[in-house]
Amino acid sequence: MSLDLKALVRTIPDYPKKGILFRDITTLIEHPEGFKQSVEQIAERYRGQGFTHVAGIEARGFIFGAGVAIAMGVGFVPVRKKGKLPGETIGQNYALEYGVDTIEIHADVLGAGNKVLLVDDLIATGGTAIAAVGLLRRTGATVEDAAFVIDLPEIGGAAKLEAEGVTVNALMA
Ligand code: IMP
Repeated sequence: MSLDLKALVRTIPDYPKKGILFRDITTLIEHPEGFKQSVEQIAERYRGQGFTHVAGIEARGFIFGAGVAIAMGVGFVPVRKKGKLPGETIGQNYALEYGVDTIEIHADVLGAGNKVLLVDDLIATGGTAIAAVGLLRRTGATVEDAAFVIDLPEIGGAAKLEAEGVTVNALMA
C-alpha cells in the first residue's frame, strides 16, 4: 500500500533561524515503509534508462541517494563539503545567503560515457544543485536528471535547474 509520504515529513519553525520553516525528513526515514517507498519511487522513475551512477549531495542526499543507487543497481558518488574527500578533488563554489560555500568530488570519478542522476532531499533556491550539476559535468559525464524528495516551488529552484538542462522531479512539494 502506498503511504502518504508528505504526512511523514514534519515542519519545524524557526530552524536554523527565525522565520524559516525547516522541512525535517528524519521522521520520514525513521519510518521503515516510508523510507523504503521514497527510495523505491525515485528508483522506479529512472530504472532502465542507462544511468551509471547516482550522485548524492552531503549530507541528506547521501541517505536517499545511496538507497536509490542500490535500488537501481548503479554506483554512488558523494558530492561532499570542502575538505572531506581524501584523494585529489575538483571543487565548485556557490553563493549562500551570506557568503560562499564549496562542494567537491574526487578528480578521478565519472568522465565521458557516464550518465548521472543527482539526488538530494530538498531543492529550495537550486544553488546547491546547480553547483553540483556543474561540478559533475566538468568530469565529462552527462547530468540531465535530478530527483528530490521535496521541492519548494515558490522559491523557484527547480525552474532554475531546468533552465540548466536538467529535468527535475520531486516526490512532494
Ligand atoms: P538550495 O541550495 O537553496 O536549493 O538549498 C538546498 C540545500 O539546502 C539542500 O542540500 C537541502 O538539504 C538544504 N535545505 C534547505 N532548506 C531545507 C529544509 O527546509 N529542510 C532540509 N534541508 C534544507
